[in-house]
Amino acid sequence: DAVIHWFKSDLRLRDNKGLSLAAEKARVKGVPLICLYLVSPQDFVAHLTAPVRVDFVLRNLADLKRRLAELDVPLYVESVAKRRHLPGRLIELCESWGVKHVFCNMEYEVDELRREAKLTRACLERGISFTVVHDTYVVEPGKLTTNAGGQMSVYSPWHRKWCKYIADHPGSLNEYEAPGTNPVGAREKYKTLFDQPIPEAPEEKSLGKDEKERYERMWPVGEAEAHGRLQKFILERIKAYHTNRNLPAGDHTSSLSAHLAAGTLAARTVVREALNAVGKKAPTDDRQNGHMMWVGEVAWRDFYKHVLCGWPYICMSVAFKPEYNNIEWEYNDEHFRAWEEGRTGYPLIDAAMRQVHHMAYMHNRVRMCVASFLAKDLMIDWRMGERWFMEHLIDGDFASNNGGWGFSASCGVDPQPYFRIFNPILQSEKFDEQGDYIRKWVPELREVKGKAIHDPYGRGAEAIARKNGYPRMIVNHKEARERCLARYKAGIGRS
Ligand code: FAD
Repeated sequence: DAVIHWFKSDLRLRDNKGLSLAAEKARVKGVPLICLYLVSPQDFVAHLTAPVRVDFVLRNLADLKRRLAELDVPLYVESVAKRRHLPGRLIELCESWGVKHVFCNMEYEVDELRREAKLTRACLERGISFTVVHDTYVVEPGKLTTNAGGQMSVYSPWHRKWCKYIADHPGSLNEYEAPGTNPVGAREKYKTLFDQPIPEAPEEKSLGKDEKERYERMWPVGEAEAHGRLQKFILERIKAYHTNRNLPAGDHTSSLSAHLAAGTLAARTVVREALNAVGKKAPTDDRQNGHMMWVGEVAWRDFYKHVLCGWPYICMSVAFKPEYNNIEWEYNDEHFRAWEEGRTGYPLIDAAMRQVHHMAYMHNRVRMCVASFLAKDLMIDWRMGERWFMEHLIDGDFASNNGGWGFSASCGVDPQPYFRIFNPILQSEKFDEQGDYIRKWVPELREVKGKAIHDPYGRGAEAIARKNGYPRMIVNHKEARERCLARYKAGIGRS
């Protein structure tokens, strides 16, 4: 007999509910714990997972395998070519290892829920208990409703309820115990599992050598690294988060999104640690306080998953607001290429897009700017941008990405109204006042002094821009704005 914990987006030992319950079951029964991760290349393709994210997951698995081995717990990682074979393969493994109990944490997207439903039945038929628990979000998605029991789709009232829920359920932030050492003999019995290497990334999702080395340096893996980042952020930057969080230059946010997406850190852990630092047991919606503001950002992650669970059709390329599905979009390849390559002639937009090419990451403020620019200035279907982000970000997460695009293109839940259109030059002046962010990522403009950095051709830096081959603006913002207002109005009117 043995117990399995099936890892998914929860690649950690500490504060992992499913893993903790599995370890407890194994301890009580006096049987070994086996950990499992099934790589699904088809899921990577279907979910547009960026190669850099696949690499981050595989590197984290190697770290996890090493740390579990220190506890005599094997982590067996196998690649299953067809995703529909995944439940069957899991059952086969249970049968070959004599496993009677499988534990895992819930994933809430449509494909994953279908997979788990299939597994529930298959396990039942074979006398295997299959336990799926809520762990990945601080408050279970769908839990919070209006006072009348209705679904909530506006962040602020939902967030107040989120804070109150935690205050009323202090146990929701409790830490789950990490697994202990396996019984004597487990290492011998499951020797082949310990020896099994972590599979390589599938061909279509693998990185070139240089990229791989760059990302290894830039994004070190593992729980220790994730906790180190969290502690450093709490010690050095969280206090001023409410004032600095919108500035893309410098290092003002936590850069923990890749770890939260891979699950090397639990959302529960980061909220608990941030609150502990100020001696609080529950968050509040105080936007003048760095700690609370940051916890409120982590709550956005909960919120977008709550939305996905309540309105799962958003997983099918449909806008949350159906009336926004009738907007007439442009499918201009040249404009899309200029956007993705950072050649729009708007320095802030170009800096942001080039940051992604180098780091597979982008600051939140500029994510909003480039998304707004694509959907409103270029009138390009926001779903093309949503897709591109998933294919390039190390922290790509369907719900948060879809939420961010919906907000920026004004067709999502709790969006910015469509007539509020970011002016990319004003955004640049406001949030990158000195142009440090632009100079870092757009080398053609490094010599430009003063305010000309925000609009080199319009403000007297034409000679430098031309000499260095920096492009002119591909659209005129004022005209683009008029076109956008007309298109949105007509689209909404048609429904
Ligand atoms: P911090 O400011 O330190 O915030 C802490 C954590 O809170 C983040 O790591 C993240 O997990 C969560 N968080 C913060 N802001 C948001 C938000 N607006 N929505 C949801 N969660 C949030 N975030 C992703 O994790 N994956 C995505 O694929 C993603 N795509 C986005 C697309 C667009 C168009 C926009 C506007 C935002 C997107 N975000 C996404 C949200 C946000 O930009 C990133 O979470 C944030 O920039 C990550 O940096 P950080 O870890 O330093 O964040």
